[in-house]
Amino acid sequence: MSATPRTVIEPFAIAHATLVTGDAAGTVLDDMTIIVGDNGRIEQVSPSLSTPIPSGYHMLDATGKTVMPGLINVHVHLFSDGKPINPKLATPAGQRRMAAFAHSPFGRPYIAAKAKSSVITQLRSGVTTLRTLGDVGYEAVALRDRIDAGEIVGPRMLASGPLLAIPEGHGAPLIALICPDADAARANTLENIAHGVNAIKIAATGGVTDAQELGEAGSPQMTVDQMRAICDAAHESGVIVAAHAQSTEGVRRALLAGVDTIEHGAVLDAELIELFLNNPNALRGWSALIPTMSAALPLLDADQSVSGITDIQLENARTVVAGMVQGLHQAHEAGIRVGVGTDAAMTFVPQYGTWRELDLMVKRGGFSPVEALHAATAVNAEILGVEDVTGSITSGRTADLLVLDGNPLVDLRMLEHPELVVAQGHPIWHPDRNIKRFDDMDTLLDRLYAF
Ligand SMILES: [Zn+2]
Repeated sequence: MSATPRTVIEPFAIAHATLVTGDAAGTVLDDMTIIVGDNGRIEQVSPSLSTPIPSGYHMLDATGKTVMPGLINVHVHLFSDGKPINPKLATPAGQRRMAAFAHSPFGRPYIAAKAKSSVITQLRSGVTTLRTLGDVGYEAVALRDRIDAGEIVGPRMLASGPLLAIPEGHGAPLIALICPDADAARANTLENIAHGVNAIKIAATGGVTDAQELGEAGSPQMTVDQMRAICDAAHESGVIVAAHAQSTEGVRRALLAGVDTIEHGAVLDAELIELFLNNPNALRGWSALIPTMSAALPLLDADQSVSGITDIQLENARTVVAGMVQGLHQAHEAGIRVGVGTDAAMTFVPQYGTWRELDLMVKRGGFSPVEALHAATAVNAEILGVEDVTGSITSGRTADLLVLDGNPLVDLRMLEHPELVVAQGHPIWHPDRNIKRFDDMDTLLDRLYAF
C-alpha cells in the first residue's frame, strides 16, 4: 500500500509556512519549513530560521500560507457524484435494473471511469487518503493498485469491495454480496479478502436510502453470529470491519460481533459506550464511530421537492438522524474515537464536500474546529491503521499535505479551495480548477448550514 510510486517526485521544501499540526491540542507553529524528499516522504519539519534548503530542492515560499496534513475521508462510495438519487432507483426493481447495468459489459467500464473521476475529485478537494465502504465490484481495488503502482497520481486508497448484506438487505443487490447465514458471511468475507480489499463493510441494519417500509431503516438485519463470522475472518488477515448501523440494537449487535467502525450510529447506552472504548472482539480492542452528518442532515433540512426523497424515506430519516446526532454527542462526551466520513455519492454529498463534514460536526455535533480537524487527520489515520504513514506532518511520514490561503481553525471554509495538494510527495497545483461543482447543491447547502 505504501509502495514507492514510479512517477518521479522532485524533492522540494515548503518554507515560511504557518503549520496547523492537526494534533489534539490545536498546535499552530509559525514560520516553519517542511522538507520533502524524492521518495515522497517528509525529511524534516523545523523552524525556517534554522533550516537551510538542501541544494537540488525546489523552494516554495509559503509566507502567509497555512500548511496542514491532508484530509482523510473514511466513508466514501465512488459510483455517483452526489446529485439527488432518483427515488425510483431505490425500489427493489430499480436496484435490480441498476445492478444488472453495473455488472454488464457496458456498465463495468462506466463504473470504473466513475470511480476514477470520483477519487480524483476527492484528491483535488484535499483528501489524500480515503476508504471506500461499498463498491459495485472490485473497481476500487483495481484503482488503488494503479495508484500504488504509480500509474496515476491519486489519494492513498483503502478499498472495501462490495458490502455484505442479508438477502434483500441494505445495499443488495447493487453493492452487496448476499449472506443468508454465518457460513456464507465467512465465505464472502474471504472472497473479498482474496480480491485484495483493505476493509470489509457490513449492512448490520436497514438504511434510509433503500428502505421500503417505515421502521425498516435501522431495523437489525444481520445476526451477531453472522457478523462475528465476518469479523473473525477479516481480523485473521488484519483487515478492519465497518458496519452500517442505524439503531441502538443494530449498533449493539455489531459491536458485540467485533466491528471496528460503526457507520452513522444511533442513541448509545452505557453498555455501548463501554464497548466502543473497550471492545475485546475488535481488531485493536476498541471501536470508532463515523457519523456521516453530510449524508444524513440534508435529508431532513432540505425541502422534499429538492431532495426528491419519498415520504417513507423522510419518515425513516427523521427517526434515524435524530438518534445519530444524539449518539455523536454522547460519543464526543465519552471520549470515543470519532472519525470523519462523508458517505460521498449519496444525495447531496458531492465527492468534493469533505470539508462540510467537519463544519457539520462543529455546527451540529458539539465539536470544536480543533477537534474536527484532529478527527479528519490523526484520528482517521489511527482508525484506518495508517497512523505510522500519514495523518500528521512528521519526518518519516509520507508527504500528504494541504497548502491553504488561511487557517482552517479560524474558518473551516479555508479547506474548500486548497491552493496546493501534495499526495505522497506529488504536488497537485491549482487542484480545484478541474473540479465539476454543482452550484445549485452548493447554494442549497450553504443556505441550510448558514453561510
Ligand atoms: Zn455509505
